[in-house]
Amino acid sequence: MDDQQLLRYSRHVLLDELGPAAQERFAAAHALVVGAGGLGNPAAQFLASAGVGTLTLVDADEVDLTNLQRQLLFAMADVGTPKVDAAARRLAAVNPTIRIVPLQLRAVAEDLAALVCAANVVLDCVDNFATRHAINRACVTAGKPLVSGAAIRFDGQVAVFDTRDPAAPCYHCLFGEGEELEETRCATMGVFAPLVGIVGAMQAAEALKLLARAGDSLAGRLLLFDALATHWRELPVPRDPQCPVCAHRPGEPQ
Ligand SMILES: [Zn+2]
Repeated sequence: MDDQQLLRYSRHVLLDELGPAAQERFAAAHALVVGAGGLGNPAAQFLASAGVGTLTLVDADEVDLTNLQRQLLFAMADVGTPKVDAAARRLAAVNPTIRIVPLQLRAVAEDLAALVCAANVVLDCVDNFATRHAINRACVTAGKPLVSGAAIRFDGQVAVFDTRDPAAPCYHCLFGEGEELEETRCATMGVFAPLVGIVGAMQAAEALKLLARAGDSLAGRLLLFDALATHWRELPVPRDPQCPVCAHRPGEPQ
């Protein structure tokens, strides 16, 4: 790190639990953020400002006027332009020392396998179960930690799925497929603006801790936040030994 970088990141370098070693890890790291909406905005913003060296942003959508209520990387002039491009421009303006890779695509399994392999940590900031399960499969296969967030109405969720830990569950252990979970969308249900900031910032915090190898991760726990009651709840999430996705993990004895 040069003097400018030491100064830029000084408030992290000052932390005993991080220090210069963690900052070097951030600089060498590659984070994949899938979804550049309500959760992806704050998550990517903290990862970029904290100096994560490579940030890949994946989202197929364009900025819409309804996004501006809560997606703080975007301005009026961005309406109609790809979200990943508008986000990349804003993040580069804050931190021109990192590499940002904007990919305007709807992530499908084939893309995700390659993208996840190239990353050190993956943030699930999407809004549909099919993509969440596809991201999870790619993370289990590649043995990459997954930081998952969700926000709808006044309800938020955060969890870490890190199958490098033999005791830790994957996303599928918690939310099986075919359980006819109701798909909920902000477009029809509404979402409280600060809630996406809270959940997205939590995702960034977990991702940075994983990269720094600092503290205890949220793996094996699900955090639930009720923004209306201002109440947090924590549930343990055990590994499902019958899980079709992670029962046989790479590197584990059969
Ligand atoms: Zn599983």
